[in-house]
Amino acid sequence: MKTIYLDNNATTQVAPEVLEAMLPYFHELYGNPSSMHTFGGQVGRKLREAREHVAALLGASPDEIIFTSCGSESDNAAIRSALASQPGKRHIVTSRVEHPAVKALCAQLVNEGYRVTELPVDGDGRLDMEQYRRSLTPDTAIVSLMWANNETGVIFPVEKAAEIARARGILFHTDAVQAVGKIPINLSKTAIDMLSISGHKLHAPKGIGVLYVRKGTRFSPFLIGGHQEKGRRGGTENTPSIIGLGKACELANQNMEAENTRVKELRDKLENELLSRVTNSRVNGDRINRLPNTSNISFEFIEGESILLMMDEYGICASSGSACTSGSLQPSHVLRAMGVPFTMAHGSIRFSLSVYNTDAEIEFVIEKLPPIIETLRNLSPYWTTAQQCGSA
Ligand code: PLP
Repeated sequence: MKTIYLDNNATTQVAPEVLEAMLPYFHELYGNPSSMHTFGGQVGRKLREAREHVAALLGASPDEIIFTSCGSESDNAAIRSALASQPGKRHIVTSRVEHPAVKALCAQLVNEGYRVTELPVDGDGRLDMEQYRRSLTPDTAIVSLMWANNETGVIFPVEKAAEIARARGILFHTDAVQAVGKIPINLSKTAIDMLSISGHKLHAPKGIGVLYVRKGTRFSPFLIGGHQEKGRRGGTENTPSIIGLGKACELANQNMEAENTRVKELRDKLENELLSRVTNSRVNGDRINRLPNTSNISFEFIEGESILLMMDEYGICASSGSACTSGSLQPSHVLRAMGVPFTMAHGSIRFSLSVYNTDAEIEFVIEKLPPIIETLRNLSPYWTTAQQCGSA
């Protein structure tokens, strides 16, 4: 059975060009980039090239790029550094819809005596900028707001938010794990001080990330060790993956505009067709300020997990907006923060496309999914009751 992979916000396929660029660095060119000899030196040169490609995609300078092990490490390193370098400040501003890499860290920081403001979002997943302004205090050490949401694709106005923070002398970090490679970013024109990337979301391998740290920003290393990354992140570099990430950034820089236009067309076709064929369905999140590849759709009165299982029988991969925790299906914190009603939140599915999806795949999903929804609804007592009450 062919796999139809519409779960690219979870992880992406390594691009063939990326894999090809990486392979020699596992066996032929395995030298340590820090070695004095020529054998290691050639790997060091390739690392510098990769750093330049990452910097070019972000509109940054190569020495502002720190390679890490993943997006989660980058988020943790940014926030911990901001706190360590400003010991007098004890307040953090973030949002209710951040990824656990920020959210769980902030919960831990509360246990350590910090104060955290989690800004709410509206029904479309948008921030209230006035409320944001009011949340900033002289005690605020750092603002951490994601650039784009992994579940809904909703884009926060982080450039504006960073300017507001800078005017108040507050450091600004953004988790751009879902944004990089999908929307244009030029950090040289922003007031963003730190930004996180994860390789596996943009067709590089898992286990490689980047933390951008603006020149002049005080930085306190998260991982103490050798002199690697100019002393900002100890540990011998993951050279094949760094080289792979460099290649992925080079490809994104070359192709992003054209490919994302095509991806957006496929996403819109999928979304519009499903909405028109399935009653009691809706899109979660701001449909304008949104990543081109993401569509979070709720199918009312059924469980997202059941939809996923039935789609899986056709090889269709997506995600649901609920997580099976301790035996009960809890809607995600993102949909809850948006106030999505339970009957909608439970039946939510996130489709996230990539450049590798085709029109034929989207046609297949449009054909197979509506009957799946119908079958599940016919088994659902909520659906029967809703029909009897006239709400379906
Ligand atoms: N931030 C966001 C918005 C994400 O979507 C993810 C991964 O899903 C992460 C951070 C964590 O990245 P990693 O898996 O590389 O740790």
